[in-house]
Amino acid sequence: MRRETLEVLRCPYCGGRLELVESLFHRSSSDEIQDGILGCQCCIFPVVDGIPVLHLLPASTIARDQMQQGRPDLARRTMVGLDDEAGAQTFEAVARSDTATYRETVEAFGPNFEGGYFLYRFSDPTYIVAQAVTRAVGATVLRAAAKSGVRRAIDICGGSGHVTRTLLDLSSAPPVLADLFYAKIWLARRFTAPGCEPVCCDGNAPMPFVRGAFSLAMCTDAFMYIWTKRQFVGEMERLVDSSGAVLIGHTHNERTWSPSHGQPLAPEGYAALFETIEPRVFAEAGLFADVVKGGPLDLARRDAAETLDRDPALTIIASRNPDVYARHPLDPPMAATGEFRINPLYVSEGARWRLQFPSDDYEQEYGACRQYLPEEIALDPSVNESMAAGQVSPKIADLVRRKVIVDLPKRYY
Ligand SMILES: [Zn+2]
Repeated sequence: MRRETLEVLRCPYCGGRLELVESLFHRSSSDEIQDGILGCQCCIFPVVDGIPVLHLLPASTIARDQMQQGRPDLARRTMVGLDDEAGAQTFEAVARSDTATYRETVEAFGPNFEGGYFLYRFSDPTYIVAQAVTRAVGATVLRAAAKSGVRRAIDICGGSGHVTRTLLDLSSAPPVLADLFYAKIWLARRFTAPGCEPVCCDGNAPMPFVRGAFSLAMCTDAFMYIWTKRQFVGEMERLVDSSGAVLIGHTHNERTWSPSHGQPLAPEGYAALFETIEPRVFAEAGLFADVVKGGPLDLARRDAAETLDRDPALTIIASRNPDVYARHPLDPPMAATGEFRINPLYVSEGARWRLQFPSDDYEQEYGACRQYLPEEIALDPSVNESMAAGQVSPKIADLVRRKVIVDLPKRYY
């Protein structure tokens, strides 16, 4: 972790500043803390392989003791959840490798690690909406006030950093990725969102950051699993500055059924959680349609109660900055931030490529991708050259827009 990140970190329990305890085991340089112990007025927390672990759940206290004993290697094993020797050695070999892929690393975490459908994440319908909304709101609140100094975003419950990736060029200070699952944020920093600042913390506890540290506080595809929703939203409101925005993307609707339902609220229940910033609730279907037709993304819309009630997923935005609630053109893809690859949902049949879902479950949950992914497509060999160049030539612009070609992190699979 960067030492300067200590400026925005606070103990989740006493609210005090945290600093490196120099008298205990540590490995650090003038601007980075690799391993060690952070202390506040009430407790001490470990920094494990550059990631501060700011909660007191069992793994954290075990890792803290191991760190104090000068065993950062064991502390990392504890935090990634590998306690058997063979599994730990497999992971450590992959972690040392410069060529191991994201997929290989996920596999090294073992069969219990929830890898799910990560391979297809960058083109799934939930993701393309989350990305568009994050870019629209993020560009407005992060770039607009860039003159006023450091502008920072935080992705809470951001898992392995797929949406955090879209914040990397918007946040002037490295975006913070906060999640309880250490292995996921470790993966994010290495592959999915290189340059982000991961912080391991508990979404059901007060958030370990100073008031007003961020211009954008966001959480996508996770809020329905948070039990302490009222505290969580209160904390998001506390974390953003006066012209910032709170964004909750893809949270399920209590009035409809959806796969992996969680403990959702009804639209007005979500709105009532906000006590200091007036929120607006959007039905995801309308935002999805905007993205599929190539924009603009209409955040000036006011969805009727019936529209909200029947949509399985909702997006909530709260900001005092009126420019957020506008019609935002979608960023045209210009160049690969990672590398262009043919969408892994396609299988090759000679020069033709056919859409093939990994499972019936995937098709049921994400089948709306058929609205932009053709069933079959012919790609001539020159497409490969365009992809390798990493620039969006006229030849591939439409394929990139439709997610037949996807911009994936380097060494993804
Ligand atoms: Zn404390």
